[in-house]
Amino acid sequence: MELNVVSKTSGDRIHEDSPTPDLIGWTMDHFKNQRLAMTTSFGMEGCALIDMFASLGKPFTVVYLDTMFFFPETYTLRDEMVTRYPHVEFVNRGTSLTPEEQAKQHGEELWKTNPDLCCKLRKVEPMHQTLLEIDVWVTALRRSQSITRANLRVIEWDWQYQLLKVSPLAKWERSEIWSYIQEHKVPYNKLHEEGYPTVGCTHCTTPVEGSKPGDYSRSGRWKELNKTECGLHGDGI
Ligand code: SF4
Repeated sequence: MELNVVSKTSGDRIHEDSPTPDLIGWTMDHFKNQRLAMTTSFGMEGCALIDMFASLGKPFTVVYLDTMFFFPETYTLRDEMVTRYPHVEFVNRGTSLTPEEQAKQHGEELWKTNPDLCCKLRKVEPMHQTLLEIDVWVTALRRSQSITRANLRVIEWDWQYQLLKVSPLAKWERSEIWSYIQEHKVPYNKLHEEGYPTVGCTHCTTPVEGSKPGDYSRSGRWKELNKTECGLHGDGI
C-alpha cells in the first residue's frame, strides 16, 4: 500500500472515511499549535503509524511507557526506531517505581497476585499523568483488535482522559499493517516472527501457537487470567 501523505489545510473536510494519509496530514496541520503526541508500546501498528507521521518530515513526539518489564527485543526495536527517525522525539514516561520497590510495597509477583494493580501502577497511572500534558492524543488502535475497540472513531473525544483522540488506523486490518511494514521496511518486534501477535510485559505475554506476523490476537496476553486489557483505553482495569 503506497502512502503519499497530502497535507490538507484546515479548511478541508476530514471524515471517518478520509484516506489515512489525508487524516495524518490534516492532524499535523490542524493541531500544529496544540500539544500533540502519539503513545505507543512499539506494537506493529504503532511502528507503522510512527513511520506514516515521520514521512511528513516534521517534528513529532512519541511517548512510550517503559514498564521495566519489556522484552529485550522491544528495547532493541525502540533503539532501531530512534535511529531511523531522528526528527521524531521518543520520550519515556514510564513509572519510576522499580520492580524491587513494587515487591517491597505490594508483595512479590504482583502481576500474578493482583495484575490489575500492577497494570495500574506501571501503565494506567503513568499514562494518566502523560495525558494531562497533551491536548491531542494520537493512537494506533484498530477497531478489529477487540470488541471494546469496535466502535472506535477516527477522531473522537476521549471521556476517560478528557482530550481529543485521533486513531488514523481505526479501519485498518492487521494484514494491511503487516503489508505496510514490509513494503516500507519499517522496524518491527522480531517476537512477531516467533509466535507473539502482540508484545507486552515479559511476565504477561506468551506466544500463540501457529501465529504469524500478519495475524492479530490477544490470546497470548494474561493467558492464565480473565483479563484482556490493561485499562489504558477505557476498557476498565
Ligand atoms: S502487563 Fe503484567 S507485568 Fe505488565 S504492568 Fe500489567 S500486570 Fe504488570
